[in-house]
Amino acid sequence: MTLEQLKTQVQQTRRDILRMVHAVNSGHPGGSLGCAEFFTALYGTQMKFSTDFSMDGNGEDLFFLSNGHISPVFYSTLARFGFFPVEELSTFRKIDSRLQGHPTTHEGLPGIRMASGSLGQGLSVAIGAALSKKLNNDDKLVYSLHGDGELQEGQIWEALMYAAAKKVDNIISTIDYNGQQIDGSTENVLDLGDLHAKLEAFGWLVLEEKEGNDLEKVIAILEKAKSATGKGKPVVIILHTEMGNGVDYMMGTHAWHGKAPNDEQLEKALTQNPETELKDY
Ligand SMILES: [Mg+2]
Repeated sequence: MTLEQLKTQVQQTRRDILRMVHAVNSGHPGGSLGCAEFFTALYGTQMKFSTDFSMDGNGEDLFFLSNGHISPVFYSTLARFGFFPVEELSTFRKIDSRLQGHPTTHEGLPGIRMASGSLGQGLSVAIGAALSKKLNNDDKLVYSLHGDGELQEGQIWEALMYAAAKKVDNIISTIDYNGQQIDGSTENVLDLGDLHAKLEAFGWLVLEEKEGNDLEKVIAILEKAKSATGKGKPVVIILHTEMGNGVDYMMGTHAWHGKAPNDEQLEKALTQNPETELKDY
């Protein structure tokens, strides 16, 4: 894909997110919007994957979404990259849909490798998958994404410690560092302190990108992370993003973490993100 095509995809994904949560008046637009560039860059430029989905994923790069509540951006990305029909996005959060509010494996939606929603668990799962790749002599990588608020879960730190001690160097974990969580800023709820220093102290190779909503910079940091794998240390990216990115009234606050826009607000948000040649679902 060209950079222009990727940028088009980011914009269409923003529209998908907004329309999905509005349609059912529930869901999590804020974190989803903040990660649109990350998902598009990851699936569009980094990962080797097959849309003929298998849970084993042998010979493929794997992705685990640990902060499962940002499912709208994940579902839009999977649909737009061909894992399932784009029209299915209209079933988001509806009864009997495969697109539940938080991703689940037993719904059989291609691309979903782990149920997530209960925070803190995804890193452990991703590390297990990375270890299995080593045992299978599979040289592909494992990616995971985590919220910054999610780092307040103790299991994350056990997993961080384990991966470094066991030299799991085929994993690239990204922290969606937007400084916000459901109840307010991470600083006010439970300050993460010097996260960079903490992750380094836990034995990870730490990369940081201050402009996580600049598509080219996101691609560049993912490239850098890939080149840092295989060197004896797990790799983590602290990706600074803006919750609600691309919609002016959703930015700079935690208010849109888990709240859908009403009709008028949707109209305003969509005007700021016009439909692309990829077309609405
Ligand atoms: Mg956050």
